[in-house]
Amino acid sequence: MKSLFLHGGTCLTMNAQGDLLENSVIEVRDGKIFSIKSDPDFILPQGAEGIDTRDCLVTPGFVNAHTHTGMTLFRGIADELPLRQWLETKIFPLEAKWGKPDLVYFATLLACAEMIKSGTTCFNDMYYCEEDAARAVHEAGLRANCGQAVTEIGGLDELNKNPLDKFDEYLKVISNYPLVRPALAPHSIYGVSDKMWQKLVEYSRSRNILIHVHVAETQSEEDHYQKKLGISPTEYFERIGLWENEVVAAHCTCVTEKGIEILGKYKVGIAYNPESNLKLGTKICPVVDLRKMGARLAFGTDGVASNNNLDILQEASTGAKLQSYRYGVGAFTAEEAFRLLTSEGAHAVGWGKVVGSLEVGKEADVVAVDVKKPHAAPLYQPYSHLIYSASGADVKHVVVRGRLLLKDYRLQTLDEEQILRDARLWGEKLAKSS
Ligand SMILES: [Zn+2]
Repeated sequence: MKSLFLHGGTCLTMNAQGDLLENSVIEVRDGKIFSIKSDPDFILPQGAEGIDTRDCLVTPGFVNAHTHTGMTLFRGIADELPLRQWLETKIFPLEAKWGKPDLVYFATLLACAEMIKSGTTCFNDMYYCEEDAARAVHEAGLRANCGQAVTEIGGLDELNKNPLDKFDEYLKVISNYPLVRPALAPHSIYGVSDKMWQKLVEYSRSRNILIHVHVAETQSEEDHYQKKLGISPTEYFERIGLWENEVVAAHCTCVTEKGIEILGKYKVGIAYNPESNLKLGTKICPVVDLRKMGARLAFGTDGVASNNNLDILQEASTGAKLQSYRYGVGAFTAEEAFRLLTSEGAHAVGWGKVVGSLEVGKEADVVAVDVKKPHAAPLYQPYSHLIYSASGADVKHVVVRGRLLLKDYRLQTLDEEQILRDARLWGEKLAKSS
């Protein structure tokens, strides 16, 4: 396989030393980074494929640690309701009627198009019919954990009966997609019975399967379990052994001090979803305290029904500012926020040994952010620009495992025009029924 060279841009490697390379040249062979250096005199070898990254910041691909991509067609269909009411009166009925494989497949394809165009290369998903979501992820060429939802609430009981019985079959399907990792996604402490929780913990431990779950999203969830069991959901999960498994806990906005200690002790991956939390009027995740205690943080968008987009750079901007608001200016820097988007985020979702930084031997998931724009001038500090000025619309090239998914702002693996036409048709059908 011939080499791919990304050459000319300023590279933020996100390695442990935080090395930054001007006039960078990254050579990719067989999906991996073969060499990375600074070379102002670089000339593209004959026959090699080159991507000119001059006037770009070249970075590891971004991680989105909490999505429900199968919900992408519900974008903007119901806003401005409290979480439980929003779920019970709007989302669950819609899912009961429409949550079928063809919708999930297409909604995920649409989400992949949006994510590629805004620089996300790896995401952590939770929804029903994830075998169909995984097919879309594979076609798009993205990297993901596809978490099969498990709930005993809502309107999808049929799809969801005996999820563990069907999970071995799911593992077989997923094994056809090299960039997809299977996960189990029990909705929440309240979405699954105690008995099911016990089964899930045992099953995931015996097969080393990642668990993706909503934790401490609202104060009422915390209060309810304090009243019912005398402990918080985080402590309940410690009691049943969940944290000894590989877990991504989404939200953790209302965790107690004890909860923060527990999540740190087990180095739990945590998805911080500031825009969804703001929109649904919950709280601000204590990111600074969680990191201090040892937890691994990443940004997440949540589903677009509660965000309403998948632009992870926008999410990082909002999230960084909210930490300044919560802890004071300087408590959480732009560089730290960019770590959550890349190296730390990759560890949070279980891909840290493979991607998350641009280093020899790692798989080549690379993003080039265009800085030849008025809102990028002048450019003193790359991290400041990426977190406080840039947006997903500035992403010019995207590579995943050495394959170009976006080139000069154009999707390479998906047909954008066709996807937009189909999305309009789906939208008309859903609008009539909601
Ligand atoms: Zn969620």
